[in-house]
Amino acid sequence: MEFVDREAWGAPATSAAAFLGSARGIKVHYLGTGYGSRGHTRCADYVRQVRAAHLADVRERYVDIAYTGLVCEHGAVYEGRGTHRRPGANGNTELNGLDYALCALLAEDGGGLDIPPPAMLHGLVDAIEWLRRDGDAGSWLGGHRDGIATECPGDRLYAWVQAGAPRPDDGHDQDVDPPGIYTVRIWDNLSAIARRLNVDWRDLAALNSIRPPYTIYPGQKLRVPAGPGAPTVPPYPGAGAFVIGRSHSAVADLDRHLVLRGYTRHHDGNGYQPSSLFSEYTRRNVADYQRSRPELRGDPDGYPGPLTWRLIHS
Ligand SMILES: [Zn+2]
Ligand SMILES: [Zn+2]
Repeated sequence: MEFVDREAWGAPATSAAAFLGSARGIKVHYLGTGYGSRGHTRCADYVRQVRAAHLADVRERYVDIAYTGLVCEHGAVYEGRGTHRRPGANGNTELNGLDYALCALLAEDGGGLDIPPPAMLHGLVDAIEWLRRDGDAGSWLGGHRDGIATECPGDRLYAWVQAGAPRPDDGHDQDVDPPGIYTVRIWDNLSAIARRLNVDWRDLAALNSIRPPYTIYPGQKLRVPAGPGAPTVPPYPGAGAFVIGRSHSAVADLDRHLVLRGYTRHHDGNGYQPSSLFSEYTRRNVADYQRSRPELRGDPDGYPGPLTWRLIHS
């Protein structure tokens, strides 16, 4: 766990917020405002900006950053008001006295970085464990929307929180699921998973009691309806699809999987955006993915071969 305490990101060591002896549990939030992926060196600065904006909010009259803690896309946990301080983000004094408030640095749907990378989910679990260990937080876990009418923390995070905030299965430990079970490895939609499993999405939803808006999350175990059931991988497009400076539709597909799996740290400074162009950034991100897989570690050249192609789709 990378924990960044208040002084380390540039806030006074102790919060001026009211004392809180213990909490029923924890509410998860997101920014819910346009937010783009960025390099980790800029995350502390962003947390400082959030605090400045809260202190400047004349209507809310916050005494400090409103959240108990914040988590960036790289999985670092930033101490907000911290343990044993009443948060200010849950809606009103009663709700703030009930639960801690953890905020993911995540945009609303369509607002930029709107898919929580696996590292962010790990960071949120780290933060939950911190508050239970040091802040006397109870086992209750929910989202901002459980207290008041709001979209926060978005459908994806909310589905994950409702499932008990499981650590994502990064696919490093387990490559083969037992028969009849499929582990979701990346944020995806149900119809895409059903296509990959070669089953009808309605059967998949019914068997797993998944209801609208049909959100699933990394780490979720799905029971697969009887049928073919084997993940389908698009045919390998050939090495000619991956040439630096050239575009190919297979690159857009590759990029999507890099983004969903969180292999995006190389970019031009404005965050890594999926596109059909195979760039040096694409190559370096693929190399990171290859280094993460024991089967590929021998040759992390960043150019997808048939095995890289199959693994990143499974
Ligand atoms: Zn919220
Ligand atoms: Zn970061």
